[in-house]
Amino acid sequence: MESFTYTSSPSRVIFGYGASSKLPDELSRQGLRAALIISTPYQTAEANKIRDLLDLNAVGVFSEAAMHTPTDITEMALEVARRLEADCVVSVGGGSTTGLGKAISIRTSLPHICIPTTYAGSEMTPILGETTNGLKTTRRDPKILPAMVIYDIDLTVTLPQGLSATSGVNAIAHAVEALYAPDTNPIIRLLAKEGIRALAESLPAIVKDGSDISARSKALYGAWLCGQCLGSTAMSLHHNLCHVVGGSFNLPHAETHTILLPHTMAYNSPAVPVARRDLAEVLPGANGDPIKGLNSLLDRLGVKRALKDYGLKEEDIDRAATIAVKNQYSNPRNVEEESIRELIRRAWAGEPAR
Ligand code: NAD
Repeated sequence: MESFTYTSSPSRVIFGYGASSKLPDELSRQGLRAALIISTPYQTAEANKIRDLLDLNAVGVFSEAAMHTPTDITEMALEVARRLEADCVVSVGGGSTTGLGKAISIRTSLPHICIPTTYAGSEMTPILGETTNGLKTTRRDPKILPAMVIYDIDLTVTLPQGLSATSGVNAIAHAVEALYAPDTNPIIRLLAKEGIRALAESLPAIVKDGSDISARSKALYGAWLCGQCLGSTAMSLHHNLCHVVGGSFNLPHAETHTILLPHTMAYNSPAVPVARRDLAEVLPGANGDPIKGLNSLLDRLGVKRALKDYGLKEEDIDRAATIAVKNQYSNPRNVEEESIRELIRRAWAGEPAR
């Protein structure tokens, strides 16, 4: 067996149906008595329910979390946290809300208890992306990792089926890149394969019936494992391309990941025979070909397949390729501008990956 280094994630995780009901006990176990609850404006009702659950141990709700963690919103939240003398922050929502929880926690050292309601996986990572004046910067610090994560399956049932599909493929993308990451190891590969398998099995059932609670449970479990992969390894071409296309051209996060994944895997495929085999093994219908497996999954999920459907313009393709090649990151196959341009063009047009 190869030699390797594995750093385990130090956060406490509670997983289950109605698991957020354990929050009051968990806070009192840690001596926390003044929680500020945060969410996006669309999930104020969920945030209010958490406040009611905590009763006197909640000091308020801040429902202004937004995509890409704008620092002016973080400043507003910090002011509220100071004024209410919060001793911890409880985030309830997707990656955007988790981002705000991380941004508050890293600035104040307040413990962050995260209740994720999508499959994005941010709760398992020491990574924070923030935007100031439209410019996004990303940093990595072990202190960014939430102190505790509560996976409450019931809170994911309201996630619309379309967003469940793309958010789930976003999670799969973390695990796919972890399979061939420069710092991957046997433990992470186990988590990655199990995470992909769980999501590939459950997402089609969720698209058929969003209230299928056993599929919801399996998907959230898969998302947890895939998030752990994201937090533990260095991501390559796929995540960088999504960052460029999503960030520079304002395309939606999970949808961009979903469209690009078969294309980036196809690009790296010749350089990663073991990851190819691993991925094909866990994707139903792959028959030894992971690209076929990914395409078959996306077909079953009925997701859009063209970046132009989300507003990327044909004239943006050249600029996206230039930025993608300029960024420095490790990738198993050399990143060549002409090939990347063709990859983006195919994804833009919705043509099959190759
Ligand atoms: P999101 O958090 O932006 O959520 C999208 C919308 O869905 C929001 O309006 C939200 O309130 C709503 N929503 C979330 N859960 C819901 C539910 N269960 N029911 C009904 N509505 C629900 O989307 P996302 O894809 O989870 O996160 C994307 C953001 O997270 C991006 O900014 C991305 O960069 C970031 N992210 C960061 C990391 C990291 O490690 N730092 C990892 C993954 C994603």
